[in-house]
Amino acid sequence: MNYLCYDCHAAYPLESNKWKCDCGGLLNLEFEKKAVDFSKTPLSRNHSLWKYIDALPFEKEDVWQDITLGEGGTPLINITRNVYAKAEYYMPTLSFKDRGAVMLIAMAKKLGIKRVVADSSGNAGTAIAAYGARAGIQSDIFVPESTSSKKIAQIKAHGAVIHKVPGTREDTARAAISMVEDTQSFYASHIYNPIFWEGTKTYVYEVFEQMNNKMPDAFIIPVGNGTLLMGAYIAFQELAANGYIEKMPRILAVQAEACAPVVQAFSEGKKTVDPVEHSRTIAEGIAIGAPARGEEILHAVRATGGDIIGVSEESIVEARKELALNGMYVEITSAANYAGYLKYAKKYPELKDQQLVLPLCGAGIKSH
Ligand SMILES: *Cc1c(COP(=O)(O)O)cnc(C)c1O
Ligand SMILES: [Zn+2]
Repeated sequence: MNYLCYDCHAAYPLESNKWKCDCGGLLNLEFEKKAVDFSKTPLSRNHSLWKYIDALPFEKEDVWQDITLGEGGTPLINITRNVYAKAEYYMPTLSFKDRGAVMLIAMAKKLGIKRVVADSSGNAGTAIAAYGARAGIQSDIFVPESTSSKKIAQIKAHGAVIHKVPGTREDTARAAISMVEDTQSFYASHIYNPIFWEGTKTYVYEVFEQMNNKMPDAFIIPVGNGTLLMGAYIAFQELAANGYIEKMPRILAVQAEACAPVVQAFSEGKKTVDPVEHSRTIAEGIAIGAPARGEEILHAVRATGGDIIGVSEESIVEARKELALNGMYVEITSAANYAGYLKYAKKYPELKDQQLVLPLCGAGIKSH
């Protein structure tokens, strides 16, 4: 198993602790994957994402068994006749970040690592802290000063060391990276470390199985750093390579209008994403002005014939209310996904007859 540079294709063993290629390129993960047997997985007594072990970078009997918190296997809930919420708030720390975090921490454990560093606007940090605690690995979590105090309280409760960084989300990343370099720590980054996507891809594996070995027509996916999106795209490729699907579902991505660098690049037909001045949005989980994986995100959206739009602050607040009135009290960031759906439904009238899946995360009580 190797890290493989997206730009120059240089390979590095995992033990190298690399988070970036010497050429400056970002890393993907290369390993031998087996096809999941979807005639067996519905019968598995393991209801977590680990039932897809054949497609994951671990063995059947491996360190993950001591680290799993039962993540995955979240329900699909009808919002309308053809629109489904995948209820990621059933996760151990209430978001899909657990899918990636369990992979990263299990791999760190396997590599014998004692300390990991991560940076996050909240949920990724919470997930890394929880699994770090579970694995007996010390975690140092860098968060923007503006992060909600309830998320910070949870990270601390898991015994992680919190580093609050003034300034933008990008300043937080720089501070984390400088600690990684100074201390030669494992960078448990949901952005740079491609092991994370091996977890987020299980989101799509589950949907495929839950829809009786079919894909919905489109996945509505929020984009900050694009870690769910990248995982979804990897899953599409794997399911296509193994003959399970002929055509990839569309990725309909959603950003907050107030912070929409990928929307801008997409609409201008660009191949890479220019950073935007950070502006405030209540959807703090997707407030990423300079997504490091911008080029890969654009490529994935285009390869599926997808689209990406921005949603207004008011529409996010409205969507949050509407979901709550339907029994789902999500964190405000996650309401953007439903706001995105409502906007897409206007933009593409044909969607009213198509099957769509969107993720819902969080505890309403943890955000304002
Ligand atoms: C992390 C997160 C996002 C954005 O995911 P990215 O991987 O940064 O694109 C969206 N919603 C919630 C609830 C999150 O925790
Ligand atoms: Zn390289």
